[in-house]
Amino acid sequence: MDVQGLTPVAGFPFPVFTSAGGAERARMVAERAARTIAWLDRVVGLPETPPLFVLGPDDWDKVATTPLYGMPHVETDRIVVGQQPAPFWNAVIGTVVGHVEGGGLRRLHDVYGNPIDIGLFADLLVAHELTHLTDREWAPGPVGFWLGELVANLGLHGYVTEVEPEQTMRLTTIFEVTWSAPNDHWPVRDLAHMEKGLEGDGSNYVWFEFGLLVLAKRLWETAGAKALQRLVGAMRGPELGFDEVVKLLDELDPAVGQAIRNWPGSPPPGSPRPNS
Ligand SMILES: [Zn+2]
Repeated sequence: MDVQGLTPVAGFPFPVFTSAGGAERARMVAERAARTIAWLDRVVGLPETPPLFVLGPDDWDKVATTPLYGMPHVETDRIVVGQQPAPFWNAVIGTVVGHVEGGGLRRLHDVYGNPIDIGLFADLLVAHELTHLTDREWAPGPVGFWLGELVANLGLHGYVTEVEPEQTMRLTTIFEVTWSAPNDHWPVRDLAHMEKGLEGDGSNYVWFEFGLLVLAKRLWETAGAKALQRLVGAMRGPELGFDEVVKLLDELDPAVGQAIRNWPGSPPPGSPRPNS
């Protein structure tokens, strides 16, 4: 990792670095990160926070571990987010807009403007990344991969609901609209192959994340913080197989367990019904 040329931003309980000209944006992201850390620490406990990097495209490859500029991600020694709007979000929006019906498109414009600025959603994702720090025990595998993403989305949804409820529409509209549209055009749809969705422009991967966000919202509404505590607790223990994980989800909310068994289904529980 090469932090030469990056600017440190002081005043946070964790190190923050940004690219030239990005201090204001870095402070905004870091403030949300600090709020999320305080919330997560209360709900499930959190290890020490690694440095936060808010990077422009020229500095991305020095620190990021994914080549997709602006795709937020976390490792035990770094949290990395984009300083500028990420081109891959435009690819996501382009694909989504091509498949939603008029009502869905209107909802997107109402919340994200016209043209659609999905940055209003993406800015919330630092809460997802920080939740990943709670569940780093399992070896990488097909079940651990999607469960880790579900847990991170549960942390994101819980954080927004409890700490920044005024952001709820910005968080939920994009994934609800996407998942109420047909899904058969996505090349990768099997949950066990979620990671493969990262190939290409990243929009297929984001579709998986949106589906897990639908389920995270549902889980938070039925079980609240208990859902996050149980799932983080499971991921801090010995690795579980698919059936054991689905059984745990059944105990929290049988509809969510069923949605995982039926994935991707059409549409999953918790999706908006037409005209509701
Ligand atoms: Zn994630």
